[in-house]
Amino acid sequence: MVTDPIAMCELLVGLPAVTVLDVTDTGDRLRVAIETRADRPPCPDCQGPTVLKDRCLVELTDLPCFGTPATLAWRKTRWTCPQGCGSFTERAPGIAAARLRITDRAARWATVQVGRHGRSVSEVASDLGCGWHTVMDAVVAYGQSLIDDPGRFGDVTALGLDETLRCRLGPRRHQQWTTQIVDVQAGQLLDVVDGRTAQGPINWLTQRPAPWRDRVEWATLDLSGTYRRVFDLMLPDATQVADPFHVVRLANTKLDECRRRVQNETMGHRGRKDEPLYRARRLLTMAHERLDDRGDTKLRGLLRAGDPRGDVQMTWHAKETVRLLYDIDDCDLACAFIDQLIDDLQDTSMPPEVRSLGRTIARWRDQIVAWHRARVSNGPTEAINNLVKRVKRVAFGITNLRNYRIRALLYAGKPNWELLDTLTPR
Ligand SMILES: [Zn+2]
Repeated sequence: MVTDPIAMCELLVGLPAVTVLDVTDTGDRLRVAIETRADRPPCPDCQGPTVLKDRCLVELTDLPCFGTPATLAWRKTRWTCPQGCGSFTERAPGIAAARLRITDRAARWATVQVGRHGRSVSEVASDLGCGWHTVMDAVVAYGQSLIDDPGRFGDVTALGLDETLRCRLGPRRHQQWTTQIVDVQAGQLLDVVDGRTAQGPINWLTQRPAPWRDRVEWATLDLSGTYRRVFDLMLPDATQVADPFHVVRLANTKLDECRRRVQNETMGHRGRKDEPLYRARRLLTMAHERLDDRGDTKLRGLLRAGDPRGDVQMTWHAKETVRLLYDIDDCDLACAFIDQLIDDLQDTSMPPEVRSLGRTIARWRDQIVAWHRARVSNGPTEAINNLVKRVKRVAFGITNLRNYRIRALLYAGKPNWELLDTLTPR
């Protein structure tokens, strides 16, 4: 048992080889002043003996103490070399990393809160009673090593590319896009690269060793030519698979276009909130099986009232038929189904939106049916959609690309959190 008050205090502060000089309560936070008991260090340049120059005070945000935010006021020693090598300040990485305004233990805690639990930086800063930058700098310094860990991901059999809107910047609200590179089977975010052109992912894939690229069997993509070019060039042997999520989304987009066109043609203006087609817009894009009897009856009633020629009804039916494709388990059946679908959708009796959908599906036919060969279960698609949602939730709106990448990868990139205890901050 410790009975000496000074020893008790040092036990509570919990830092090795540290003398507690005093503890003050400033009302809203506790201030603990310390200095180290380290021996006089040799000169880092000539290894000769040094003399004490002066001391300087560094205020560091620490973990809250018994529920009260705490500051560690570290009286750092400055040494000087009599041989003229100059002066230097003592270092104790166990207390705090050189450039950060936060203690080592508080920085590691903040990295877990923001990176692993996906909490906002301002929330964590408020817990610690410090500024936003103090926390973000810590997450960058400690998180960078975690996401750069070469063991973070190994071989990947199914690789996916997906464009993501990161934020809007400037007075004209310019959209800033990134491309997410994903292990589709593991549901792991591998990396984030700037922009949604082919160049970002091409550069990233170029940096992987050739055997790694050779092991990618499946390459999933949306229905855009950009990522198709990436795969054609970088992973020529991988089978391209159109992501079902994007196929169904395209069908829904066409349905929306058709609804707005019919609205305009019948009423002469854009949808207003009491008009049948406008009121039907959510019911239309919902999966049919998710509508209960009441919703179904309502949808049919609204279409009868607002869709005199049945164009919206037909586009809605096309969308539901596209979705049916993914209920088919058998690969040959799926091929027969899609060929019939392509014919039906492009029939001249169809509304223009349906024919356009048919043309796109025809162009991506092989990639769309490849999904039926590639999937083992619905798991990967689910995992990826959840992943995208998670990354958006934690990272959307972050204007700084480096911060976005670190936070997205800490949260969805499955870093090895056990490394955090031993890593050195950058
Ligand atoms: Zn020296």
